[in-house]
Amino acid sequence: MSEKVHCLIIGSGPAGYTAAIYAARAGLKPVLYTGMEPGGQLMITTEVENYPGYPKGIQGPQMMDEFREQAERFGTDVRYALISKVDLTGPVHKAWTDAGDEIEADAIIISTGASAKWLGLDSEKRLTNKGVSACAVCDGFFFRHMDVAVVGAGDTAAEEAMYLSKLCPNVHLIVRRDEMRASKIMQERVLKTSNIIVHWNSVTEEILGDTEVEAMRIKNTVTGEEKVIPVKGFFVAIGHKPNTDIFKGWLDMDEAGYLIPVPGSSKTKIEGVFVSGDAADKVYRQAITAAGTGCMAALDAERYLGAKGIV
Ligand code: NDP
Repeated sequence: MSEKVHCLIIGSGPAGYTAAIYAARAGLKPVLYTGMEPGGQLMITTEVENYPGYPKGIQGPQMMDEFREQAERFGTDVRYALISKVDLTGPVHKAWTDAGDEIEADAIIISTGASAKWLGLDSEKRLTNKGVSACAVCDGFFFRHMDVAVVGAGDTAAEEAMYLSKLCPNVHLIVRRDEMRASKIMQERVLKTSNIIVHWNSVTEEILGDTEVEAMRIKNTVTGEEKVIPVKGFFVAIGHKPNTDIFKGWLDMDEAGYLIPVPGSSKTKIEGVFVSGDAADKVYRQAITAAGTGCMAALDAERYLGAKGIV
């Protein structure tokens, strides 16, 4: 199959759906490909309490259903397939689904998001959303007044530990080496915070608990000593991987693969290609910020298509 559209949106988290709402209302007739995880990272979240407009909170999957419904209400064509290849030579860009269908697009909005990295333990998988989380800002509140653990030693782990230290009596930071990778200032803050207990040279052997996290077993890789520490929340902060592999060679990205837009906009160095959401954000990574940049991308796309006289 081959077809031509004005506005192709790749990805279906808050960024993609918000871009779709704006693009559809502007008459761009967007076609949105959801990717392999329709709804994105919010589909593996439970309660979202920090998105304005939901005063009682909302389940992540329900929120994404409502975003999709809103996008469809204005005519977005939502398709449950993966875009696996692009050709951004232009002026009309091309994309292909993994089934080999070709789509030509005057404008492309990238909102492919990022995926949290996990340790890969069976117990981690089993207890995800039952105390295991990859986002302290999203889920930390549920563990206030309880002891928690954070795994990782980068800026994210340091920020998450600092955030949790204000809510929880004790935060156990599990660092696999004898030093942290986080920026010096963040390290200093962590080390100066009395209720953050750093376990150096330590790896998680198992997260314990049947229906919810109750403790973790960690091992010191230098001494071989094992400890079981009671915690209710277990936060994995060992980095994210932006889902941008298909854009390698076409668009500017940093060494981790995050797309780099023209500052202050959603534009890229290629005309008619716009970025939004976590695919271009390694700092904020919130549903609300992703939605905000999705809106920016749709407005930039609309202006671009208008200036070219396409719509
Ligand atoms: P990083 O890749 O910087 O750090 C990942 C950390 O996780 C490392 O310390 C790494 O250990 C550890 N790690 C990786 N795999 C494992 C594992 N299997 N078990 C235990 N530990 C593991 O990721 P971040 O998400 O922290 O940061 C990504 C980027 O975003 C960085 O450039 C960071 O500076 C930036 N950032 C900036 C912020 C800000 O400016 N406010 C906030 C958050 C992020 P090791 O060191 O041993 O490799």
